[in-house]
Amino acid sequence: MPDRFFLTTAIDYSNGDPHLGHALEKVGADCIARYRRLRGNDVHFLMGMDEHSQSVLQASANAGVTPQAWVDRLSTVFTDFWKRLGCSNDDWIRTTEPRHARAVTALLERIKERHPDHVFLAEYSGLYCTGCEEFKADAQIKDGHCIEHPTLELVPTKEPNHYFRLTAWRDPVLQKIENGEFLVEPAIRRNEVLSLLRSGLQDISISRVRLPWGIPFPDDPGQTVYVWFDALINYLAATGFPEAGYEKRWPADLHVVGKGITRFHCIIWPAMLLAAGLDLPRAVWAHGYVQWEGSKMSKTAGTAVSLESAIARHGPDALRYFLLREIGFENDGNFTWERLDVRYTDELANGYGNLASRVLAMIERYVGGIVPTGVADTPLDQEGNARVAAYGNAMDGNLIHEGAQEMWGLVSRANQFVEETAPWNLAKAKDTAGLDRALGALARALTRITLMIHPFIPGKAGEVWGGLGLPGTAADAKWGALENPPTGGGKVRKLTPLFPKPVS
Ligand SMILES: [Zn+2]
Repeated sequence: MPDRFFLTTAIDYSNGDPHLGHALEKVGADCIARYRRLRGNDVHFLMGMDEHSQSVLQASANAGVTPQAWVDRLSTVFTDFWKRLGCSNDDWIRTTEPRHARAVTALLERIKERHPDHVFLAEYSGLYCTGCEEFKADAQIKDGHCIEHPTLELVPTKEPNHYFRLTAWRDPVLQKIENGEFLVEPAIRRNEVLSLLRSGLQDISISRVRLPWGIPFPDDPGQTVYVWFDALINYLAATGFPEAGYEKRWPADLHVVGKGITRFHCIIWPAMLLAAGLDLPRAVWAHGYVQWEGSKMSKTAGTAVSLESAIARHGPDALRYFLLREIGFENDGNFTWERLDVRYTDELANGYGNLASRVLAMIERYVGGIVPTGVADTPLDQEGNARVAAYGNAMDGNLIHEGAQEMWGLVSRANQFVEETAPWNLAKAKDTAGLDRALGALARALTRITLMIHPFIPGKAGEVWGGLGLPGTAADAKWGALENPPTGGGKVRKLTPLFPKPVS
């Protein structure tokens, strides 16, 4: 029975179209999901939408449609983009679904049952904007006024809210991060979270009055569950909780989120789960941001470079590759058209694409199109063994940028091997044994590179897999095929140009 691996992305607010910032997270998580399948894990990959935010009410009102019609449309817009980008998620959860509401209610009830004084009523006081009909956080206030409504006065308001006793769970959460039971990665994010925990927490408000778009608070229908508390529970809801059998998927093995929401995922969420007596996820990976001219990709910058135009430039695989290779999945990185073009031309067209077409063409021309069987003892095979092992180590730690480096190391070695063995000279000399040895090794290396690059560019890697005449698909291949690539016998097929020169 393969190890199960339950992987999630953050769910996105339904307040506008997806942009490159969203795309980085989804393709990064998809890369991990595809790698885990290659590893042989029984992967369950969840994505979805956060549909209860205040901004949904505003956006739908501005558009003159009902909130439900608004979120329905956006759910389709998002899923269409993720499909085009090759995301292989197994489930798509929306927080307006009944299965989600049921889980939210059940989790709250479970916390109250176990710790009756951990959910309590208290006065919430803050600055209320009558234009937005909501309390404003400091970040939403400029010069003492709501950013959206600078001509209105903010009203100091108090209302009774339900609170969660977060403070009671500081020490247990801190301990589980410190002892490694609950991993927060990369290290820079772990340190941020630890320092937040050590500096002390406050109990948090988890309900709102006067917000009709949300999940009714159990036993208090005048209030709705606060959107963040509601949203986090999606990961659990998707396992079927509280119905029997949810433990087959829970706990999650990895939550992939942006670095800006670690407080929710690494402090509040584990506290909620501990309070309910549920297992914690094994790990959270917090990635950096795609920047555009030095600032975070947002709705505003999204108009400067739309997801649509970024996909159109060189196709979905090229965008995936660029995001994971240039931006990376750890720190912030800049999007520029120039860098996208350079990565496309240098690495995909002239690197992987050129190697693949060269190897296939030589097999066609010199040995009749049948991949030769040879003993896997060449220097190229040895390099492949080392690169595959290092690739596995990097990818196991979600260091997908380092995984890509190992894959590239093998591409370089394979190109060098072509020059060293010069199959065209072997053909001239009618050295059949030499040709079998060289082309067999190159076919094995190309198979390995294709499997290693598949999580990054599943579409194009799938085409090369077919070109090598290999059985099944690259998506279904398992780790054994990477360690010991199938040798020989396949009939190669000519590929249409993998990475055509852009028409300018
Ligand atoms: Zn306002």
